[in-house]
Amino acid sequence: MVATYCDETEPDYSALRLAMVRKQLESRGIRDRRVLEAMRVVPRHRFVPEVRRYAAYEDMPLEIGYGQTISQPYMVGLMTQMLEVQPTDRVLEIGTGSGYQAAVLASLAREVFTVERVPELARRAQQTLYELGYDNVRVYEGDGTHGLPECAPYDGIIVTAGAPHVPESLKQQLAEGGRLVCPVGPRGMQHLIRIVRRADGFCEEEGIGCVFVPLIGADGWNEP
Ligand code: SAH
Repeated sequence: MVATYCDETEPDYSALRLAMVRKQLESRGIRDRRVLEAMRVVPRHRFVPEVRRYAAYEDMPLEIGYGQTISQPYMVGLMTQMLEVQPTDRVLEIGTGSGYQAAVLASLAREVFTVERVPELARRAQQTLYELGYDNVRVYEGDGTHGLPECAPYDGIIVTAGAPHVPESLKQQLAEGGRLVCPVGPRGMQHLIRIVRRADGFCEEEGIGCVFVPLIGADGWNEP
């Protein structure tokens, strides 16, 4: 008999998603109700290449091609919570990758701008976001270490690649009261940094250790 692929063999993704939120996010201290709800709804498996979909809700990052990864669910939840996204916010993401983080942000913010340097990933993410009906996300191709000055300022900026330092242009594109979250440190080992822009300057705090693929660009790392 020839094995055929059919819908009946599909795992129950929505049950896997609820379990992911309970076991990987709530149990580890992610408390923001809007973040938890968004991650119960956004179909993460649709952002993962088909051959790896079976693992979409597991507790790890996954390869998405071109040497890049979709972040671990916990890291997406934690960084999104640190960003304190409000429904009226305009948010900038650097490192679109699969588009999953952008979809989570799009569920929470008014508008999301996301920049990706690998053209094929930018195109694929845009297609996935379009198919799923996220009409408040705009995907840009280019070097996000410059930010996206034409749409600045932003209430939130999230960098989802590891940077040697927080790019200065990104800080300058934050609105007053705006939050920026970025992994900073040597290649292969960073810490999350959270910066808040106040009327009288920037206030910076350090979060947990993490490992991200490198932020490559004019104000990031050189080519791999
Ligand atoms: N947020 C993504 C995961 C990002 S992986 C998701 O939800 O799937 C990091 C991404 O940052 C990779 O796709 C990589 O190509 C991209 N990247 C690295 N340097 C960049 C730069 N200077 N500008 C924009 N994107 C960059």
